[in-house]
Amino acid sequence: MQQLLDTCRLGIMGGTFDPIHLGHLVAAEAAREQFDLEQVLFVPARLPPHKQDREITPAEHRYAMVLLATANHPRFVASRVELDRPGPSYTVDTLRLLRAEHPRAGLCFITGADALMELDTWKDPEELLRLCRMIVVSRPGCDRERLREKAADLQRRMPCHIEELAAPALAISSRDLRQRVAEGKSLRYLVPREVRDYILKHHLYRRGAATP
Ligand code: NAP
Repeated sequence: MQQLLDTCRLGIMGGTFDPIHLGHLVAAEAAREQFDLEQVLFVPARLPPHKQDREITPAEHRYAMVLLATANHPRFVASRVELDRPGPSYTVDTLRLLRAEHPRAGLCFITGADALMELDTWKDPEELLRLCRMIVVSRPGCDRERLREKAADLQRRMPCHIEELAAPALAISSRDLRQRVAEGKSLRYLVPREVRDYILKHHLYRRGAATP
């Protein structure tokens, strides 16, 4: 597999994954199919740079849920690349590491439209865009015209490949799922069963629960 990845396209789905849900998995699967990705790495951020002012579930819980959600897909892999690194989890640092590990692979970073709109605020955006092709998932309610303008603007300013992904639309968000748990509502058919069981077993997202 290592050898294969050296020449193939490797998808990288970065996220806070608090928790991972079917929207993430459907987007990753659509990207895998549409862009012929050999493997999709799910990379939970240990310390998401843009969420340092917020309470986030400990990374090991988020990683465990990613592991459970991806276990039965032969081409999905949960990655610890950001968990085992101190400091904020900057995407460009992750891409540098993956580039060093797979010098000839085509790195494809899969991201949501919201993230692309803020890409200029990320660390070293120019280098980041040199290291990978961006696959941008447009979601329900996303302004596709604005998204295309943003992609065109970035492409004018720096050499990069940005592609829009046509994925089946699932209006699920991690924030809504946390809210649902806090209100005692069901997670059925929104997250994989194993993830739901994990959340219940570890009392994650319960109102008043000590931050797990
Ligand atoms: P997240 O909320 O866990 O979501 C992960 C990805 O899935 C996001 O791109 C998100 O798009 C997308 N997504 C969520 N729900 C979806 C649905 N229902 N259908 C389709 N796609 C869906 O992740 P995040 O906290 O935004 O972080 C995304 C990545 O960007 C992480 O790897 C993070 O480290 C990176 N990032 C890096 C920097 C930096 O290096 N300075 C700064 C900011 C973010 P949306 O973005 O549209 O929600």
